[in-house]
Amino acid sequence: MSLDPAPARPAAELPKGSSDDYALFLDFDGTLVELAPRPQDVVVAPGLGVTLETLRDRFGGALALVSGRPIATLDEFLAPHRFDAAGLHGVEMRRSGVFAARATDHEPELRELVDRFRGFVEPRPGLLLEDKGRSVALHWRLAPDLESEVVEEAAAALESLGSRWRLQAGKSVLEILPAFATKAGAVQEFLEAEPYRGRRPVFVGDDVTDEHGFEAVLERGGLAIRIGEGPTVAPLRLPSPAAFREQLARWAQGEPIAAG
Ligand SMILES: [Mg+2]
Repeated sequence: MSLDPAPARPAAELPKGSSDDYALFLDFDGTLVELAPRPQDVVVAPGLGVTLETLRDRFGGALALVSGRPIATLDEFLAPHRFDAAGLHGVEMRRSGVFAARATDHEPELRELVDRFRGFVEPRPGLLLEDKGRSVALHWRLAPDLESEVVEEAAAALESLGSRWRLQAGKSVLEILPAFATKAGAVQEFLEAEPYRGRRPVFVGDDVTDEHGFEAVLERGGLAIRIGEGPTVAPLRLPSPAAFREQLARWAQGEPIAAG
């Protein structure tokens, strides 16, 4: 395996596992696909869905996407393929085809917040409002100068909402979502159920929110792989989504996950 240790842990020291007792938890944006200026513009590489299906078969069905996107959006990008998924950082869960959402998509507080953010974004070209139904995100990738204004606005908005909500930072994005939702909680919930139970978890992600997922799998003796630059608790790193897709293809061909 060509994963770079990050910071300094030789891959050869990683514990070995049998090739089939893993559960894969994969972030989507910045991990499986390259980030795009606007979230709707990401491009799914040809063959990715088939590779993920092959891996799901290899690991007894234990493969889930763990994303900040709504599950419906993940389905659109990956159609016709569908996978187990945690959407909106775990507000939505789908396992073995059964969907569950642990918040309504017509929460009055959040609807008011979306209206407030619309008013904030409208006079500021380049800012993007992403209404995800059960959460809301503000993106400034196209207007980096506005970062501090967005941070201030989001913090003020959060204060007006109270403790049922939390702020999630990401790459050129801030999101307000139900406070209970974290990627760690999503991973834990999957691992309590078949076919994930008892398997060694692998979490792969690229952003601040994925650190929760990394911690969850490391606590359980799993593997955490960070895609790209940035501080992380993950012991392993790959440089880019393209490099990770190559790694996925090798795993799909039977290469052992653990190094050695
Ligand atoms: Mg990501």
